[in-house]
Formats: sequence, C-alpha cells, structure tokens
Amino acid sequence: MLLGSHVGMSGKEMMLGSVKEALSYGADTFMLYTGAPQNTKRKEIAELNIPAAHALMEEHGMKKFIVHAPYIINLANTVNAETYDLAVMFLKKEIERTAAMGSDTLVLHPGAHVGAGEDAGIASIVKGLNEVLTSDCKVHIALETMAGKGSEIGNRFEQLARIYDGVKWNDKLRICMDTCHLNDAGFDVKNDFEGVLKQFERYFPLNQIACIHLNDSKNDQGAAKDRHENIGYGTIGFDALCGVTRIAEFADTPIILETPYREIGGSADKLAPYKLEIAMLRDGKFDPKIFD
Ligand code: ZN
Ligand code: FE
Ligand code: FE
Repeated sequence: MLLGSHVGMSGKEMMLGSVKEALSYGADTFMLYTGAPQNTKRKEIAELNIPAAHALMEEHGMKKFIVHAPYIINLANTVNAETYDLAVMFLKKEIERTAAMGSDTLVLHPGAHVGAGEDAGIASIVKGLNEVLTSDCKVHIALETMAGKGSEIGNRFEQLARIYDGVKWNDKLRICMDTCHLNDAGFDVKNDFEGVLKQFERYFPLNQIACIHLNDSKNDQGAAKDRHENIGYGTIGFDALCGVTRIAEFADTPIILETPYREIGGSADKLAPYKLEIAMLRDGKFDPKIFD
C-alpha cells in the first residue's frame, strides 16, 4: 500500500521540505498544494526546488505523489464569468507545475454551480476541461468525489460520468475518491465499501481511481457536510477505513490522509496526526488512546 498525507510546501526548501515532511510521517507517498489552497499566489517553477526534492525521494524509494488544485478554482461557475476565466487560466498553470514537479495526477474539485443548476454547472466544467486538456497533456486531472455541500457537483458518480462523456480528451481524466465526502454524500462507506465500489463500476472501471483521500467524517452518512475527522474517531470508523487500504486494486494507488490537526499528548498547539495515523493503519489495529 502507498500511504501518505497532505504536506506543506513553503519557505526556502519548498518541495524538498514537502518530501522531508512526508518522510517524517513514515509515508511512502504524499500530496501537496503548489501554494495556499485558498489563493492563487504561486512561486515560479524554478523556485520550487524540484531537483533536490527528487533526489531525496529517490534515496527513499518514493515514486508517486499527488498535486491538489486550490479550492477557489470553480469551473462550474456560470454566474460570474471572472471566476470561470480565472479557473481556466489557473488550471492551465497548475497542469504545467504538476508536470514540472514530476507528478502525473492533479486532483480537482469539479466545482459548484452556485445556483445555476446541475446541468449548467456540468456543461461549464466540461467546457473548462476542454479548454485545458490537450492530447499530449502529461498530467491526469482527477475529479474528486464531493460531499454535495451547497451546490457542489460530484456527489454522485453519474455526474462525474457526464463530465467524462463531454470531455474530448477524457483519457486524461481520473477520479479521486474521498471517503469522508462519499459518506457525507450518502454512500455506505462504513458497512459496505465493496457495494460503493460496485456502484462506481456501473460508470467507471476501478483503474480510473488515481488517488484516495482517506478521511473519517464528523457527520452522519448523507449529511452533505464535508468535515473530516481523524481515522477511527468519526462516523465511518477504523475498520472500514483500514479495509480500504487493504484492497488489492489499490495496492499502487496513493492513499492520502487529510485528517485534522489536533492536540497530541496534551500539546498546547494542534499538531499533525499523520505519523500516528499512518502507523496505526499499517498496524491494522485501532488504538483509542493514540493521541493521549
Ligand atoms: Zn479535495
Ligand atoms: Fe479530499
Ligand atoms: Fe473535504
């Protein structure tokens, strides 16, 4: 299994720091944002410290990592033309950065239709993806399964299939499955993940899943909320989430934790839980005192 978490990328070390952070968690993969997820301020590719990061990855046999596009990209917005134009422009740059950094997967939230309706939103996402994807694009865009919060698109596999149907170079598309989002969207991740995959396979083969976001959820199944919880501490629970990491088809698929920072061992500040959660998942046994 390939287990990791999202990591930062900042300061002088940039991507080298990301790899160091991932290694400090005992991870064998990782996911990063190319800058703050909530804005579009980005450094030049030459300043990302890519060769040093790759040297360290190689030293530790790390091969795959994932890039996540910022949340403010909303290709589904037909209400504000500026938002859509910015999304297309920025996504083109993210594809370039992702390729330059050596990842083949850029995770993207499909978008939110902000009141214009699902059909208009999906048509706009298709139009946007057709503007950025080319036949020789080296990066796959992995559409993330969403919770359905607000007017979010992507809480049903059928919507993702409609996006694939409209995109010319849809061999460049992939899916990122987020277990918290699936739960919040109404899927029974806790008791029947196999059944969830069966529903998925009505639209896509499993090999379209390029990344898994492994998160527990603070909310009940179907809440349409999207609030991540630490592994084993939410409504999905440890056994179901650990089970996801043991599925043979996902042996080579990056499994990324996006669980919240928390107090650990009585710490004053909230700390990254990933080292403990990764170890617990590898071990396969839930420890209810892991953060004490
Ligand atoms: Zn995401
Ligand atoms: Fe996610
Ligand atoms: Fe989320």
